Amino acid sequence: AGPDPDLGVVAERLRDVRHRVLILSGKGGVGKSTFTGQLAFALADDESVEVGAVDIDICGPSLPHIMGCAGDEVHRAADGWSPVYVRDNLGVMSIGFMLPSDEAAVIWRGPKKNGMIKQFLRDVEWGRLDYLLVDTPPGTSDEHLSIVQLLKGSITGAIVVTTPQEVALQDVRKEIDFCRKAGVPILGVVENMSGFVCPSCHGESRIFYPTTGGAKALCAELGLPLLGSIPLDPRIGRACDFGSSFLDTCADSPAAQAYAGIVAEI
Ligand code: ADP
Repeated sequence: AGPDPDLGVVAERLRDVRHRVLILSGKGGVGKSTFTGQLAFALADDESVEVGAVDIDICGPSLPHIMGCAGDEVHRAADGWSPVYVRDNLGVMSIGFMLPSDEAAVIWRGPKKNGMIKQFLRDVEWGRLDYLLVDTPPGTSDEHLSIVQLLKGSITGAIVVTTPQEVALQDVRKEIDFCRKAGVPILGVVENMSGFVCPSCHGESRIFYPTTGGAKALCAELGLPLLGSIPLDPRIGRACDFGSSFLDTCADSPAAQAYAGIVAEI
């Protein structure tokens, strides 16, 4: 078979998308989708920055909920689908918008998932974007192979989200290995749930990794930047449950400062 003609169509569609950033994690539950959603809000806080977030976690889409647009519908525009806009400069696309209910399961094999991901890139009117954030499923699966093939060499880089525990860090190595084999540049690692800042005394407890920073050591070993350490902050969980930006409620918290640092680096 010759080259997939759709690749050219995808490239043309995304011509005006400056940074294409994959958000990866070795394990589920480390806060990858939370991070993607809150990073999208943080980037879009600058109204001159156009942001898109696409959820290619076909079997477990959570961006619509986290970004406050669950239950919205995707509309046909003149030239494809229009993303769901949660702010003037922040559009979201997810299979979650096409499911009959939040409880509906998607049980698809690789080729069908690949087709959907292709549609998200080829058939959506993304327009001019400064950032397209791609929320991926945990691990390295069909979805990752699809996105790497479809964006062929044009991925700006990947951010790997982890928690400080050794079991999570072990899986980060696999993600890094995947990126290196697939030719995806790595922007760096984000350590989520790095500690807990007590809301009353503001003291920080290193609840998962009481001795030293495991992600920091891993980054030093692998020669990667540690983009930031985001503590557990109940306000983040609450904001995600309500589909809003936690930065709106606690702009001066250590977590918000960590996000600001990451925005400045990417
Ligand atoms: P993943 O996408 O890696 O599976 P999620 O983003 O769904 O993980 O996060 C898992 C849970 O942890 C969610 O309930 C989310 O609200 C919560 N969470 C993630 N990061 C934080 C944080 N820094 N502080 C508080 N809660 C968090």
